[in-house]
Amino acid sequence: MVSVVVPIYNEEELVVRFHEAVASALKGVVDDWEVVYVNDGSTDSSLELLKGLQAVDSHVVVVELSRNWGHMGAISAGLQTARGRAIILMDGDFQDPPEVLPQLIDAWREGAEVVVGVRRSRQESRKLLAFLFPMFYRVLGALADYPIPLNAGIFSLMDRKALDSVLAMREKNRYLPGLRAWVGYKNSIVYYDRNDRLGGEGKLSFISRIKYAMDAITSFSYKPLRLSFALMGFSTTVAMMLALCMALPTSAIVTAGFGVAASVFFMGGLLLLSIGILGEYIGRVYDEVRNRPLSLISQVHRSQVKIASQVG
Ligand code: UDP
Ligand code: MG
Repeated sequence: MVSVVVPIYNEEELVVRFHEAVASALKGVVDDWEVVYVNDGSTDSSLELLKGLQAVDSHVVVVELSRNWGHMGAISAGLQTARGRAIILMDGDFQDPPEVLPQLIDAWREGAEVVVGVRRSRQESRKLLAFLFPMFYRVLGALADYPIPLNAGIFSLMDRKALDSVLAMREKNRYLPGLRAWVGYKNSIVYYDRNDRLGGEGKLSFISRIKYAMDAITSFSYKPLRLSFALMGFSTTVAMMLALCMALPTSAIVTAGFGVAASVFFMGGLLLLSIGILGEYIGRVYDEVRNRPLSLISQVHRSQVKIASQVG
């Protein structure tokens, strides 16, 4: 069986069209498949529409979460519920194109255990994001202690073995593209053109994107912590140069006052930066210690016929 896991938050304009597209992409490619839709506490009619799909199509599984948990929380619940030998992960807004699904499945059948969808191009109508995405990948590429394929999001296929390894990592602030690379296994890449979302608004807030970017960097790099050492080297050098200047005969006592004030503020800035970086890591350690779940499932709607045939 092949499972497709899709997080859904307020996508009433798209869910029905999306399911039709996924179903027609899989038809003739796999016999046994399910689509696990995770309703991440939608406040529109998405859940009713999903339940409607589930009532008429036994391939549909609907996972209801207890509230809105965010993209990663929804994905984790879906991955835990999926029962396939291969599990595909994609967004429900057509940005990860359903017509690419057969290519992912072909690569898996040819022996790949992780098939990563890499964006050949990206249509992005939101200008700020279009500017920030390549910058993020450049920073991550430079900092990561482990090579992570760039320009790849969640869109991918994982073999059961790879998925179980990813799920065994219980870390709370997950950067899935990083974990998926970190577990290893036989990897393969499928290139695709990323479209703009087909309807509705983007659902992730700017703050949640920044947090996700910080998750990516903090969970795959210690380098920001080491920045403090570099800053220390820099400020010591400046201090020594200033000490040397004091030996020079000068009458510029007044401007020296400004100099002192500027360097106090400058040093303060560097110290706060170091503390801020430290805080990002310590906050995540705190999340681990509290060990709260990534999301809570309130109900799973699955076709009875399907379960009976599974048991038999
Ligand atoms: N999503 C979710 N929970 C949220 C926000 C988004 O499950 O709190 C879903 C959303 O319905 C979509 C996917 O996650 O299927 C990606 O969200 P979106 O398209 O808004 O992100 P973007 O493509 O703008 O990064
Ligand atoms: Mg999207």
